Amino acid sequence: MFDKILIANRGEIALRILRAAKELGIATVAVHSTADADAMHVKLADESVCLGPPAARDSYLNIPAILAACEITGAEAVHPGYGFLSENARFAEILGDHGIGFIGPSAEHIRIMGDKIEAKKTALRLGIPCVPGSEGAITEDAEGLRVAKEIGYPVLVKAAAGGGGRGMKVALTADDLPNALAAARSEAKAAFGDDSVYLEKYLQKPRHIEIQILGDGQGRAVHLGERDCSLQRRHQKVWEESPSPALNDADRARIGEICASAMRDLNYSGAGTIEFLYEDGAFYFIEMNTRIQVEHPVTEMITGFDLVNEQIKIAGGSPLSIKQEDIVFRGHAIECRINAEHPTTFRPSPGKITYYHPPGGLGVRVDSAVYAGYTIPPYYDSLVGKLIVHGRTRTETLMRLRRALDEFIIDGIETTLPLYRTLVRNTDIQNGDYDIHWLEKFLAAGGGDHIA
Ligand code: ADP
Repeated sequence: MFDKILIANRGEIALRILRAAKELGIATVAVHSTADADAMHVKLADESVCLGPPAARDSYLNIPAILAACEITGAEAVHPGYGFLSENARFAEILGDHGIGFIGPSAEHIRIMGDKIEAKKTALRLGIPCVPGSEGAITEDAEGLRVAKEIGYPVLVKAAAGGGGRGMKVALTADDLPNALAAARSEAKAAFGDDSVYLEKYLQKPRHIEIQILGDGQGRAVHLGERDCSLQRRHQKVWEESPSPALNDADRARIGEICASAMRDLNYSGAGTIEFLYEDGAFYFIEMNTRIQVEHPVTEMITGFDLVNEQIKIAGGSPLSIKQEDIVFRGHAIECRINAEHPTTFRPSPGKITYYHPPGGLGVRVDSAVYAGYTIPPYYDSLVGKLIVHGRTRTETLMRLRRALDEFIIDGIETTLPLYRTLVRNTDIQNGDYDIHWLEKFLAAGGGDHIA
């Protein structure tokens, strides 16, 4: 096991990793940009190193500076969190070349899953059901038109290097396809420097259901159930819960075992999430994330396992200590991502938090790195914190979430708290009756108009 690790991230996830490391008795090194000198992860770490100026490319994405920080502090491994370098296969390789551990899967597995076309091919080979679509990249319009006709419209053009919902365009008919291909290509080129795109059948009313897995790279893998992340805006998750209101125990066990068995075949190491769309009782793989995810706490709340603790132990060479039969799902959990944004226009609202009062009580968890007097810098994502609530039933969890949201005070900046206070009172949400398009339709129909 490691004696000291470096956390190559910021915000709530840096704090989350720091907490897991401390509970394992591992010393921590925080890294930060000049804009984050006052950040909580810096204050709570055993040591800290400034990487450079605010821009992420100069700091949190600055591989030579992170390597130097490892060398100076003697950190034996790096936890990348999510975002930044977490799915950068080259970073994992470079660390390895310097004898430093990467708390995550092998560079090879990051690379395969980072290319969505490769990932789908691998998923099919491993027996994971996929969305019908093109077998590889689409380079010519004629080929796109042929494949789209075969799978049937509407179709979705997606970027092979995609992430964060970018580079995705819907074509309702053959007339739309050439433009959708061109638009997705240029968006993908601008966002990822890679204009490869592929085609998928566009599902009309699916839910987004993802399976959490853990593998140890020594032939063992388990699944820890699903998270339903169907409430989305611009293909970005807004609300996550487990168990999914749409799944029964048999479906859960079936898809969970398909994923765990695929990860055993791949000899996958670390935490990962296999994402599916779920429609009319069928699962369709869309992608795999080879890192810890923002919404991992809902799984922790219903299983009682600390996923970051498991990641660190696996990277340290320990065999997976959890057996599938040890994983029991207790109650229900919901997570709301509180962003520093206007609650209905979603305009970013960085600035100084003048007053901060998080909720508490039974079953309430707040993962956040802000405090009263803290200034949210404008350079990074707008996540202020995550409110995660656990209850014995979904109804109890919704009532607890409602009262926790009402207790939460963040003054000085605008946040999305008012949106969640509206959502938690909505009948469709209370009935668990929503798909991936629900939130956008709700907002377009003026559902959020009366929100502050
Ligand atoms: P990204 O990596 O950019 O987040 P994903 O492939 O994970 O892209 O998809 C993100 C979201 O986009 C999904 O949760 C879903 O809402 C939507 N989406 C992706 N593929 C499809 C599809 N074939 N049909 C309908 N919606 C889709």
